[in-house]
Amino acid sequence: MHSTEHPEVMWGLGLDPDTAAFVEAAAGAGYALRNLPPDAVAWMRGSGGQTQAAWVPWQVWIGLPKNRRLACGQDECVRRILILEQDAEVLETEQVLAEGFVTAVRAPLTRFKVRDALLRLREMDSLAADLRRKTEEIALERELLVRKGNHLSFLNRVLSRATASLDPVTILSKARSDLRSLLPLTALAGAFWSRPEHGSGLDAELYMPCLLTPPESEEWQQALIAAAERQAGYKVSEYRQACLAPDRGRKLAPGPSAGRLLFLPLSVGGESFGFLALMTDKGLRLAKDQVQTLNACVNHLALALRNALLYRQVKLQADRDGLTKIGNRRSFEERLAAEAARHGRYDQPLSLILVDVDHFKAVNDTHGHQAGDDVLREMAALMGEGLRSSDYPARYGGEEFVVILPHTSREQAALLAERLRQRVAGRFFRAGAAKAGLSLTVSAGVAALSPGSSAQELVLLADQALYLAKNGGRNRVVVAGPLDIPQAGQAAGDAMEQPLRVVREIIEPRIALGRKADRAAV
Ligand code: GH3
Ligand code: MG
Ligand code: MG
Repeated sequence: MHSTEHPEVMWGLGLDPDTAAFVEAAAGAGYALRNLPPDAVAWMRGSGGQTQAAWVPWQVWIGLPKNRRLACGQDECVRRILILEQDAEVLETEQVLAEGFVTAVRAPLTRFKVRDALLRLREMDSLAADLRRKTEEIALERELLVRKGNHLSFLNRVLSRATASLDPVTILSKARSDLRSLLPLTALAGAFWSRPEHGSGLDAELYMPCLLTPPESEEWQQALIAAAERQAGYKVSEYRQACLAPDRGRKLAPGPSAGRLLFLPLSVGGESFGFLALMTDKGLRLAKDQVQTLNACVNHLALALRNALLYRQVKLQADRDGLTKIGNRRSFEERLAAEAARHGRYDQPLSLILVDVDHFKAVNDTHGHQAGDDVLREMAALMGEGLRSSDYPARYGGEEFVVILPHTSREQAALLAERLRQRVAGRFFRAGAAKAGLSLTVSAGVAALSPGSSAQELVLLADQALYLAKNGGRNRVVVAGPLDIPQAGQAAGDAMEQPLRVVREIIEPRIALGRKADRAAV
């Protein structure tokens, strides 16, 4: 709608006066036409963001210098309508558009042609406005997508790094560095728990920041246990702990009271199994989208951690002997290969004890197979007594057991074997339905890995020593190779006490580093 008070300006470029007057009249009362000579210095200009029509005869247009035509073509505010002479040859639409005209009309001009051209121009304007709006919307959408993309690539990175490992310590250590790009973390810790079938309290695993002073370590322990009890609704009766990989470039980790602790529950399928504890500065406030990203991130981590815990459980089952619950032959071989490789690298002593129950067949024959099984279970428990966390007892097969002793010389291994032999000989095994007290003995072969020899050769040596023990009359220990300690069943002196060893702090299923037996269910 154009008012007559403020008529909309149209331009004419080099129109003859008759044409100019006709166009103005034909356009209607809402329009005023300003006709400029072709060489006008002042040029047609749109104003107020509104585009304006400019009527340009073809002859005038092609008479303009090229740079003028180009400059004109770049003016976004003027929509040029081409007027073709009546007898001018037909121009292709492409040519009209290429010259920057929005449409063309052919003389002689009529009212209808003028109005139709102006109408088309308005339609184009409204289309252009729509396009502009859409472009703005797209730009906005694009920005949102970029932000979402950043969010997703962050989550993707967290997830792919978390799922690349099946070790909770590695997953948590990587999560700590990933989360640092989201919020200023000063420390990260975590706890997982399970409820033992017959126990009343929780069996918990605490993952602590590493490099803590003893009081701060204690503080973290208490904070994590208290949070686990709060979240799970049960007291912690037993816990083990591990520490995360050292934080690159950081020294001692702070205690939990040095900042603000955010406890983020970990759950999968509605079942909660632990939490992450993020420590930040006390004054930190998180923005809404930070909280959302953090939650999504924790959900991803929960899945990865759950998988890692399940994998560990399954692996543990696969590594265990069904009857005695100690390592099986397969896990023994795997462990021995790993220890032998380490031995080769660090030149640490590595010894092996192979144990066979004497006349075991007679137990089965006399007291039944069930009694035999009971004896094997008790025997397995005896194998594990007095060992370090790095030692590895396993059932080699039937009534044969084996113990891998890393960092242990042949002499020390011989003493351990001898103590074991004595423990068995001095024991009454309560086996079978009658719980008959059976006296049994074992024979043992001991060997140590010598430089350059293989794990198989070590087993063979221990087996040969065991064979000698059997042949020598059973109930004795034979050590492969020359030795300077008492041989074959002679009591070992206390003078050769096992030296103190540094116990690596690792989560080992059979070793509880902490016990809170006095805790009962909430
Ligand atoms: P030796 O002193 O020469 O070692 O005599 P032994 O009777 O111990 O040796 P032998 O190899 O003749 O017998 C081993 C027996 O162990 C035979 C087998 O039935 C029994 N055995 C193997 N595995 C199991 C098991 O899982 N449970 C029970 N109850 N017996 C088993
Ligand atoms: Mg045997
Ligand atoms: Mg035997």
